[in-house]
This record gives sequence, structure tokens and C-alpha cells, in this order.
Amino acid sequence: ALRVYSSDQVHTSIDRAIWVSGIGEENLVRIPVAGRFRAMDPAALEAAIIADRKNGMLPAGIIASVGGTSTGGTDDVAGVAAVARRHGLYLHVDAAWAGSAMICPEYRHFWAGAEQADSIVFNPHKWLGAQFDCSVQFIRQPEDLVRTLAIKPEFLKTHGRDGIINYSEWSVPLGRRFRALKLWFLLRAHGLENLRTMIRNHVAWSERLAARLAGEPDFEIVTEPMLSLFSFRHVAAKGGDADEHNLRLVNAINDDGRIYLTQTRVDGHVAIRFQVGQFETTAADIDTAFETITEIARGLV
Ligand SMILES: *Cc1c(COP(=O)(O)O)cnc(C)c1O
Repeated sequence: ALRVYSSDQVHTSIDRAIWVSGIGEENLVRIPVAGRFRAMDPAALEAAIIADRKNGMLPAGIIASVGGTSTGGTDDVAGVAAVARRHGLYLHVDAAWAGSAMICPEYRHFWAGAEQADSIVFNPHKWLGAQFDCSVQFIRQPEDLVRTLAIKPEFLKTHGRDGIINYSEWSVPLGRRFRALKLWFLLRAHGLENLRTMIRNHVAWSERLAARLAGEPDFEIVTEPMLSLFSFRHVAAKGGDADEHNLRLVNAINDDGRIYLTQTRVDGHVAIRFQVGQFETTAADIDTAFETITEIARGLV
């Protein structure tokens, strides 16, 4: 069986890809995570690969996470890349959300080693201000895709120039929209420096809100900010169920309608996710977020 390796922090799109490709969920091997950023342990990864080979399996690829959806889980990409290289495995880096922040040099340490990956994905529609949808994939060897997907029926044999790139041979759909154009307009209209300022503000505001909530006696930070994403919990009244209390809190916040948050589970327990990423968010909105969260939490009976 083909085997693919990742942490348990990767996005559900990975599970789907594993189903659709026919590899099968049982062949997505979850490597245990550790540390503040919930990174998979490269030594455990390598041990799993070696054990699989011994058992007649065929290790095929590794998916590294940079900025996982739940709490920003981020692997040691350089460490993972070294394992991939030693064992001749394909390495994909999923930075769908956090990738936009890599326009800022000071955040690039989060994906140090990404230059060794075979492919990287990030979605400018998530945090760069691009209109939905706009996902960017960097590929080391597009020939791999062409070898897998290219097909030349009679009606597509036109008089093209040699060496021309037929993007229709890089993806499952034949037709595709010119999404790169809106990215070009975005960069020209705002400029890299303005986009960097937006992202730096989001990170700074999120860190400041986390610090403010941490300073309140009835709140606790569950996962520290990874870029602009952190998670927190409100302390339930004595004898109350913390999970149930925080689920009620997140629902009450969303019903209120001033801000929108989602919940996740961290080590089995409910935590509320806070993330800043919208293009027009202001510092005042973050004050609103603080007021909304504290006011609603303290009003729950
Ligand atoms: C949003 C997200 C995805 C899914 O991206 P699509 O382009 O919508 O499939 C995958 N991985 C991560 C880390 C994400 O944040």
C-alpha cells in the first residue's frame, strides 16, 4: 500500500485528497505532535517510514503543515524535508492560510526549509485580500503533473509553439480562469509594503488581544498566537462544565453578531479560536472584540 505521512493538525482537505486519490484513509499515517506549535517529530516520522518499508508498504509522500486550521499547527519543515530527502519522498507544504504572511521576511522562519519542498500551497483569498477564489500552488517539477494528467485528443492538437505551457495539462479541469490577473491587480493596487503592513497589524493586534484576555482573571489562553491565530477559554463558574460553557459562549458571541468566532478542540477540550485576517479590520475592531467577548462571557448564567 502507498503511505502518506502528516501530523494530526493538517486540514480535512488532506483526508479528502487521500480518499479521492484511492490511497485510502487507513494509509494516511498520523505522526504524533509536540511543542508549542504542535509539530510532528521528524524522528518519529522517520521511524514510521522505516517501519512501513519493513512491512512491505510503499512510503510515497509527506504533508507538512504551516499554520494548521485548528490552532496554527506548524511543522519543522526543514527537519521534515531532511527526512523526505533521505527517503526519496515527495514533500508538500500546506500553508493555505499562513502562506500569505510569508510576504513579510520576519515571519519566514515559520516555514524555514520550504524551499526544499516539491510543492507549496497558499490561498491569497484567505489573508492577502484577494477576491475568492484564488489558491496558489508552487510546484518544483510540473512535469510530474503533465505526466499524470496530460491528454491530447484530436481536437486539442493545434499548431502551438513548442515549449508553450499548457496549463490544461497541470490540473484535472481542462478550462481555468485567469486568477493570476486579480492577484497582479491586487499587488499593483496596494503594493507589497501596504499588504505587509496589513498582515503585521493583524499579527500585532491579535497578540495584543491575547495579552489583554490573559490579563483577565476569568480567561485563559489555550494556544498562544501563531501569527494572528490564538485560542482561549472562559473559566466556567464553580462546578460548571468548561466545554459546555465555552460552546454556549461561542454560540452567544455569534448570535450577538458583532464578531464571529469558531471553536475547536485542543487536547480534547473546547477552545475558542480568534483570528484576524479581514482586509479592512482596524485596531478599533479589536477593542470591539475584547468588549464583546468579555461582556457576553460575563453575562452567561
Ligand atoms: C483553508 C485551508 C485549506 C483548504 O483550502 P482550499 O483551497 O479551500 O481547499 C487547506 N489547508 C489549510 C491549512 C487551510 O487553512
